[in-house]
Amino acid sequence: MATRRVLITFPAGLAGKPLTYSLVKEFDLVINILFARITPNEEGKLILEIGNSSLEQVEQGINFLRSQGVQVETLARAISWNEKECIHCGACTAVCRPKALALDLDSWELSFDQSKCIICGLCTTACPLGILKETF
Ligand code: SF4
Ligand code: SF4
Repeated sequence: MATRRVLITFPAGLAGKPLTYSLVKEFDLVINILFARITPNEEGKLILEIGNSSLEQVEQGINFLRSQGVQVETLARAISWNEKECIHCGACTAVCRPKALALDLDSWELSFDQSKCIICGLCTTACPLGILKETF
């Protein structure tokens, strides 16, 4: 499946519009909401993973969002983890809200699930060894 991870920012007036519903129903897209911050009467932010077997269909959905007055930024960044140098101290897990970084309670080893990462960047400063880095 072709996917795009995007940050969408929408003005307060659009908060009640069923935009993700339209993406699913009208464009046949699979939507995974990775992060949402929607406060009444304020600008809202969502990080979405948008997927379909056709990348063209994904792009059409993104163009639809833009046509509705939504700002869409494609997230090409990722977090890299230098596993070999990790000392499994767990400091990064304290700041990782989606639990992409987690310590196994049996082995006390860190694991990193890239698919849960919303690329907030908090772990990059939390790691005392600086081995979690944003890549572009
Ligand atoms: S950037 Fe780091 S802290 Fe943020 S979600 Fe990804 S792994 Fe977790
Ligand atoms: S903070 Fe750094 S050294 Fe500690 S577990 Fe996380 S990645 Fe490993």
